[in-house]
Amino acid sequence: MSVLRNGLRLRARIVLAFALGGLFLSVLLSAITYSVTRSTNLDQRTESAERQFFANAASIQDLSLSADPSYSELLRSLPQVAGGSPILRDTDEENPWIAPALTAADLPSSLVSMTESGDGAFRMRYDRPDGVSSLALGVAISNTNVSYFEVVTLSELDGNLSSLLLTLFVASFGTTMLSALLGVWASTRVLAPLTSISSAAGSIAAGDLSTRLEERADPDLETIIDSFNNMAGSLEARIERDARFASDVSHELRSPLMTLRASIEVLESRRDELSERSQAALDLLSDDVHRFQRLVEDLLEISRSDAGSLDASFDPLLVAQLLQAVMRTTNHLDITLNVGQGSDEALVNGDKRRLFQVISNLLENADKYAGGATAVNLVCSNHNIRIEVSDAGSGVPTDERNLVFERFARGSAARRRGSGGGAGLGLALVAEHVRLHNGRVWVEDRTDGLDGSVFVVELPRFHE
Ligand code: ADP
Repeated sequence: MSVLRNGLRLRARIVLAFALGGLFLSVLLSAITYSVTRSTNLDQRTESAERQFFANAASIQDLSLSADPSYSELLRSLPQVAGGSPILRDTDEENPWIAPALTAADLPSSLVSMTESGDGAFRMRYDRPDGVSSLALGVAISNTNVSYFEVVTLSELDGNLSSLLLTLFVASFGTTMLSALLGVWASTRVLAPLTSISSAAGSIAAGDLSTRLEERADPDLETIIDSFNNMAGSLEARIERDARFASDVSHELRSPLMTLRASIEVLESRRDELSERSQAALDLLSDDVHRFQRLVEDLLEISRSDAGSLDASFDPLLVAQLLQAVMRTTNHLDITLNVGQGSDEALVNGDKRRLFQVISNLLENADKYAGGATAVNLVCSNHNIRIEVSDAGSGVPTDERNLVFERFARGSAARRRGSGGGAGLGLALVAEHVRLHNGRVWVEDRTDGLDGSVFVVELPRFHE
């Protein structure tokens, strides 16, 4: 039972319920049909056998009135129902039994004794010694020592009933199968709305907040569709509100931060005139303002991407050239750039600024958490472009490999470095930008077995 409750899927449960329902109904109908047919046939046969029996008994009674009745001759000429055989017992005779077709042993002895000692006619259903199911009738002929019996075989009736039983069994099996098929059809129809609800929920979870369920003219589904769509609507509104809030706040913070930055630059230009303590304070302030500015820029970018208002411009870009430009601009020229065979011509249809940010973020992280990148590899296939940024740090633990791409998520490498550094938005932005290019980004172990990690960006290759 618990397997039924926990183990079977809804579709299987519906099909099973239909099949069991079909089986129950067909077995019930078969049982009723069988028992009604059986009793009707048995009644009819018994009735016609009795009618013939009493007519024959009357003929014997008539014959008994004659001076020297020849019962055996009469028995042979008496009409019989199909499967009927007469037997006569005349205790006045030395050989009392006259049984043209059967023998005395074919009669149940209890019926013989009842007939001879009682008054009137008797009837009995029994199985003959040869196993044939039969009906025996007996009556004592008045004013004589004669008893008349008839044995009617019922095996023909049993045969008919057996074939009826077989037919009903086949029909029940067929009905059960048909019910199961009906169950498959019904479950597909019943589950269809659930399938669309689950795929709509999946697409909302994947980020498409505008997903809604189609209206259906079914009052049973109307409520659930309305509730789902209302829920999705308020979720979308809320997320938009939050994104707008983050975007507005970041925007508002931008100008004062720029003023602050400019003021710090002025102070830095007069650094020599400051005391040592003031210089140290200025350095701290400059670092914090730089970090704050970076956080505000990242937040602004992420909230713009949430609101779908990113102004992306896609152009065919030479990836090898882009990598060189990033490394040059961010002072990473000391890192080896390995461009695979035929990869120097590889193009990506991308947004230059964003792809620049993706690579520079990965290089910057390698600096922050792994003592610098050891190599940047560019490997291309006909369909894909792989950019691999390797380092020789302590690597990213397996259980953090998805987490580090989440917003505001910082890994154990960041905790080891203390509370300074970023806010956990860098890789989230990388993932966002790569997704915008229909690509994927992930982190894996180095293939040469040394310590460190490899951040892999995979983008679709563009062919002109
Ligand atoms: P942040 O640098 O602000 O912490 P990121 O999103 O850039 O945010 O990085 C998320 C986390 O990923 C980091 O906190 C760090 O634990 C981990 N990480 C990123 N790059 C590396 C790297 N090259 N080696 C080890 N860990 C890394």
